[in-house]
Amino acid sequence: MSLVIVGTMAFDALETPFGKVDRIIGGSATYAAWAASNYYHNIKQVSVVGGDFPQEEMDLLADRGVSCEGVEIKKDEKSFFWSGRYHEDMNTRDTLVTDLNVLADFNPVLPESYQDCTYLMLANLAPAVQQSVINQMKTRPKLIIMDTMNFWMEIAMDDLRETMKMVDLIVLNDGEARQLTGQYSLVKAAQQIREMGPKYVVIKKGEHGALLFHEDKVFSAPALPLEEVFDPTGAGDTFAGGFIGHIAKEDDFSFETMKTAVIMGSAMASFCVEKFGPERMKEITDADIKQRLERFSELTNFNQVIYTKENA
Ligand code: AMP
Repeated sequence: MSLVIVGTMAFDALETPFGKVDRIIGGSATYAAWAASNYYHNIKQVSVVGGDFPQEEMDLLADRGVSCEGVEIKKDEKSFFWSGRYHEDMNTRDTLVTDLNVLADFNPVLPESYQDCTYLMLANLAPAVQQSVINQMKTRPKLIIMDTMNFWMEIAMDDLRETMKMVDLIVLNDGEARQLTGQYSLVKAAQQIREMGPKYVVIKKGEHGALLFHEDKVFSAPALPLEEVFDPTGAGDTFAGGFIGHIAKEDDFSFETMKTAVIMGSAMASFCVEKFGPERMKEITDADIKQRLERFSELTNFNQVIYTKENA
């Protein structure tokens, strides 16, 4: 049993209403691995970095049970760099810079020990690379989930369509779901996305929670109402990492388990936004997670009461 996570390991420069940071550690696979490792330990990372990426970041992940054997280091090149600026409401942001650097010609070669993984998470990355990883699996993983981003819709839509046909579940945010389908209604958008391939669709709505769609079933999870969102970068990847980490731990992906996984992912994302970059993810304890899950439980519990015309 193992979980393979494929995505970027990067440097980010961020501007939020709370401040500015220049070159901190980021990347979709970084966030996903930190989140998943709270629930599940046999994680195998696939990514590419330049000679400028600190070895200690990989050592920290290794301490959490994340193997970095599948992370290629291109010594003479620079790591992927992304820069973003958040608007006042923190739900929307502008991408300022995307420097692909090592990612431009990334052609991952999966170590032998990765090729029989049980669960596969394709974090945000070039859709052609996501496909290449699926194609290198000796046996099809039980569940393949993918994330994506407007950037890839703009420059690699054909590849993205192909990748979507190969996966079971897609996670994307509301803006991306609308961009992908041209549908404003998220219910209609999810329906249309399912027709493109994935049987399950998760739409994240930032501070408004997340929706899980499968067949005629829908599950709606809240986001924790936080007084301050410090930096939402990576919240989506963190959500997805927590989601698949729970599924891998349970080794089950029934709709009921997926509902819990949505909450487990939301809990992780609620930590991620409390500090810049993945810093908060590195320090949370089991007790913090337990307390946070209790808050989610309180948030969603209510007594159902049925009134009739007679007893009103
Ligand atoms: P999120 O806020 O969940 O969308 O993820 C932000 C993270 O994704 C940052 O740490 C970036 O380094 C990384 N990222 C930004 N753009 C891309 C891209 N086009 N492909 C892959 N990863 C990206």
